[in-house]
Amino acid sequence: MTDQFVALDIEATAMDPARGEIVEVALVVFDEQGERERFSSLVRPRARLSLDIATLTGIDPAELGAAPAWPEVAPTVRRLVAGRGIVGQSVAYDLGMVEAAGVLLPNRVYDTYQLATLLLHDLPAYTLGGIAVALGETPEPGHRALADALTTSRVFRRLLERIDAFDPATLELLAATTRTGGMAEADLFARAAARRPTGPLFAVGDGASGPHEMAFLTPRERPESLRLTGAKGGIEPTRVAAAFAPDGPLSRTVDGYERRPQQEQMSLAVTRTLGRDERLLVEAGTGTGKSLAYLLPAALHAIAKGETVVVSTNTLALQDQLYRKDLPDLRDALGGGEAASPFAAAVVKGRSNYLCLRQWFAWLRQPLLDPAEARLKAKILAWLGQTETGDRAELRLAPDEEFAWRHVAEEEGRCVASRCVFQQRNQCFLYRARRRAEAAHLVIVNHALLLSDVMAGSRILPEYEHLVVDEAHHLEDQATNQFGYAVAERDLEEFAGSVLRRDGAVLGGSLATIAAFLGRAAGDDA
Ligand code: SF4
Repeated sequence: MTDQFVALDIEATAMDPARGEIVEVALVVFDEQGERERFSSLVRPRARLSLDIATLTGIDPAELGAAPAWPEVAPTVRRLVAGRGIVGQSVAYDLGMVEAAGVLLPNRVYDTYQLATLLLHDLPAYTLGGIAVALGETPEPGHRALADALTTSRVFRRLLERIDAFDPATLELLAATTRTGGMAEADLFARAAARRPTGPLFAVGDGASGPHEMAFLTPRERPESLRLTGAKGGIEPTRVAAAFAPDGPLSRTVDGYERRPQQEQMSLAVTRTLGRDERLLVEAGTGTGKSLAYLLPAALHAIAKGETVVVSTNTLALQDQLYRKDLPDLRDALGGGEAASPFAAAVVKGRSNYLCLRQWFAWLRQPLLDPAEARLKAKILAWLGQTETGDRAELRLAPDEEFAWRHVAEEEGRCVASRCVFQQRNQCFLYRARRRAEAAHLVIVNHALLLSDVMAGSRILPEYEHLVVDEAHHLEDQATNQFGYAVAERDLEEFAGSVLRRDGAVLGGSLATIAAFLGRAAGDDA
C-alpha cells in the first residue's frame, strides 16, 4: 500500500449528495513527514448558495460566479487522489459529493472520526477541532475546505503515531478485530505491525490473549482508607461565604462565575445542617448553582472530619457531569490543584459499567465472527492499556457495540470476587472504584446504586454519616424499582391453579375463592 495519503474536504450547497452541489474542494497530499502538495478551489454551482451555508463557511456567493465549474476542477482532483489513501473527517459525506459529481473513487478510505473513537478516549466531542486539540494540534481557523483538509492531515499523522506506539502483538489483534469489524482502518494496524522487527526476540505475549493479561496480573497498590481526624464542631459559615465572594476562590476557578445570593444561602444552610447532623430539604430553582452550593460545604466538612460524604444524583450522565465539571473547579478552589489539595473524590457506578477483566480475557480468546463485537474488541484493546477506571463512559460506542458490551460487563451472580485473581491483585476495575471510594472525601453515586447499597446491607459503599441527594424527586421512582416487585394477574391465577391441581380434591376454601375471583377478573378484562 502507498505511504502517501490525501486529505479531502468538500463544501457544498446541501448535505444530501442527490440535491447538493460542490462549491469548494480542498486536497492536501501528505506522508508521515508532512505536507507534500495542496490544492483548493471554489467551484461554480448551478444553483445559488443558501444563506446558511454562506454563513457557516464564510464563502461569498459573489466569488462563486467567477470560479471554475466542476468539470474544470475534476481532473486535478483525479490526479491528486490517484493511488493514495483518502483521509477525511466523517468522510462518507465528502466521498458521496465527489462521486455524485462523477468522480469515482476506488481508493482506500480512512476516517479520522472512526479512528479517533478507537484511539482516543473520553473526549468531550469527537469533532475535527476536538480531536485536533486532544492530539496537541491547533485546528486551522474557519470552516473552509482547505482549513479542514489541513487540520485533517495533521490529525491523521498524529493518529498514525498513536498506532505506531502499540506493541506488535496488540497491533496484530487490532488489525484482525478491525478487519472483521469492516473497518478500512485495519490496513493501518497491519501496516504498522508489518514494519516491526519479527522473530522470537521481539515477540510479546502469546498472540491469543495479547500482552495485557500479564500486565493485569501484577499486584497494584491499594489506597489508604480515610481516617477520622477527631475534629469537633462544624465548618465556620464565614469560610463558606468567603468562598462565594466576588473575589473569592470560586470566582477564580469557575468559568463565568457570578455571585448568586440563593446559591450562597443554600450553601450556608447545607453548612449548618452538616455541622448539626440535621436534615435539610431544599428546592433550588434553575440557575441557583445548587451543585457547588452543596459540594463546597460537603467537601470542607469531609476534609475537616476525615470522613466520607456521599452525593447521589439521578443518572450516570449527571454523575459524570459532577465528577468531570464541578469537582475539578471545586478542587482548584479548595487547594490550588490536585497536588496541593488533601481533597479526594471518587465516582462509583453499577457493576455493569465496568469492564470485567476475567470476562474480557475469556471473550478475547473467542473467535471473531460478529462485526459489532469485533469493533468493540478493537476499542477495548486500544483503551485497556490507558484506562484507569475501566468505565465504559470513556468509550465512544455505537449502539450495536453498546449491545455487545454485555460480553465484558460483570453482572450480579457471575463474579466470585474472593476467587478472582484480578480482584486479589487490586486490578479489577469494579473493586478498585470501590476502594477509591473508601479513600475519598466525596463519593458520587447514582440513586440506583445508592439503593442497591441499602439492599446489599451497605456492602457496596464506604461507611458514611452524611448523604446529599440531588435530583431527589427521582428517588421515589428508583426506590419503587429497587424495593418493589411486580406480579401480573395471570401469574397469580396460574399459581393458584397449580396449587389447586396439586391438592387435587380441594374445591372449596380460600384458594378456590381466589381462583374464582381471578378467573372473573380475567373475564372482565377480556
Ligand atoms: S472480581 Fe469480579 S468483576 Fe472483578 S475482574 Fe473478577 S470477576 Fe470480574
